[in-house]
Amino acid sequence: MGKVIAIFNQKGGVGKTTTNVNISACLAAKGKKTLVIDIDPQGNTTSGFGIDKTSLEYSMYDLIIGSANAKQCILETNRENLYIIPSSVQLAGAEIELTEMDEREKILKMAIMDIKQEYDYIFVDCPPSLGLLTINALTAVDSVLIPIQCEYYALEGVSQLMNTIELVRNNLNPDLMIQGVVLSMFDGRTNLSIQVVDEVKKYFRGKVYTTVIPRNVRLAEAPSYGLSIVEYDPKSKGAEAYMELTEEFLDLEEDVI
Ligand code: ADP
Ligand code: MG
Repeated sequence: MGKVIAIFNQKGGVGKTTTNVNISACLAAKGKKTLVIDIDPQGNTTSGFGIDKTSLEYSMYDLIIGSANAKQCILETNRENLYIIPSSVQLAGAEIELTEMDEREKILKMAIMDIKQEYDYIFVDCPPSLGLLTINALTAVDSVLIPIQCEYYALEGVSQLMNTIELVRNNLNPDLMIQGVVLSMFDGRTNLSIQVVDEVKKYFRGKVYTTVIPRNVRLAEAPSYGLSIVEYDPKSKGAEAYMELTEEFLDLEEDVI
């Protein structure tokens, strides 16, 4: 049975989409059949894989409102082992339509129930909010992967994030686990980055990956070519870091089993 993981942090610009695109590309390259679900109306994961958001037959919106099933919404990405349910700007409207639906928090969970077993991993890229789309993601997944940016206010919002996870555990998804915490945009030249790493490690005892993602301009450039970092510049520091993170992710998975 495939493992379903949400990339979650209600703050924007912390590296969710970058982590989603690159960890899933690395897993696919290692032979793991991977599905990426883009539940962010901004659709940055979708365009990050070079998919044109304006010419989709079906997208996440259709899945949410029930006008298509998961199988109809899945696209190939022209990469071996890597598939996507793309997002489009229409999805912004789904948040409003969802409020009228029965079992509105469980739409995504139900929609992916019968495709789960076809993948090794399914990653859900969350929007930067705590609205119904995010709640749908947290209800549908086995665990959350939390990217945290190495910046001054890194821990601001973390207690709200943890409260949300607790709320979802209590009401909708009692088995929701924390997969791990990824520190992103690390700048080894600043004391601040080093302090943030220490603080986050103290807060999330034992849950923080040893691999830290450095600030690397190649990571910021790759999406404009519709490529993951391992395709765009496999020798860059960013590519090395995401490959190492993927190794660590898989090693820890084996420990859990
Ligand atoms: P989120 O999905 O949490 O909003 P993104 O992954 O889109 O965050 O990252 C925000 C911006 O920072 C994007 O422009 C992205 O290309 C850039 N970025 C992300 N990670 C890095 C990094 N390690 N080094 C440099 N730029 C990065
Ligand atoms: Mg994003």
